[in-house]
Amino acid sequence: MEVVPAAGAEQYPALDFANSALALPGGQYLDLLGEPGSASRWLAAHDLAPEDAGLREMCAAQLRALREQIRALLAARVDGMPAPAGALVAVNDALTRTPTAALLRWDPVRGLHREATHPVTRIVDHALAVLAANAADLLTGEDAERLAACGSPPCNRYLLRTHARRHWCSTRCGDRARAARAYARRKGE
Ligand SMILES: [Zn+2]
Repeated sequence: MEVVPAAGAEQYPALDFANSALALPGGQYLDLLGEPGSASRWLAAHDLAPEDAGLREMCAAQLRALREQIRALLAARVDGMPAPAGALVAVNDALTRTPTAALLRWDPVRGLHREATHPVTRIVDHALAVLAANAADLLTGEDAERLAACGSPPCNRYLLRTHARRHWCSTRCGDRARAARAYARRKGE
């Protein structure tokens, strides 16, 4: 299935990241970070990892966890509610994951030595930091005023409104919303 990015999501990778679990018409659900292979493809498509990054399930789970926290912050911002404390902690934790230093270790065989983090861990930490920073920029910049939740059920995506009356993330959602309104009118008559 082709997924057209929501309005504004090409400008803000964090917005596309927040939208990477899609509720589809018919009660279906598509998670682009649902398993390591698709998560690798998502990161590569956003220039956040090489094609063959070799993510593990733990990495995909970290990405999904940050996504939920960013969604919580977007929801609070859109609804004019206080930012959830746990989401702030999670985003700040991701923001400070880079750069990763080689730590000092000791074991009986090698004695003292520096241990570089696993390359995959570095890739994921970098991606988490970039996405968290981008989310923080989006939420605090002037574009935050244009943040909205798509108003075409069951869509769960966020978007940047291009004009005041736009309430949906894509033409597909707009068409579905108009069709639903027309159907409701016909039933009402
Ligand atoms: Zn939508």
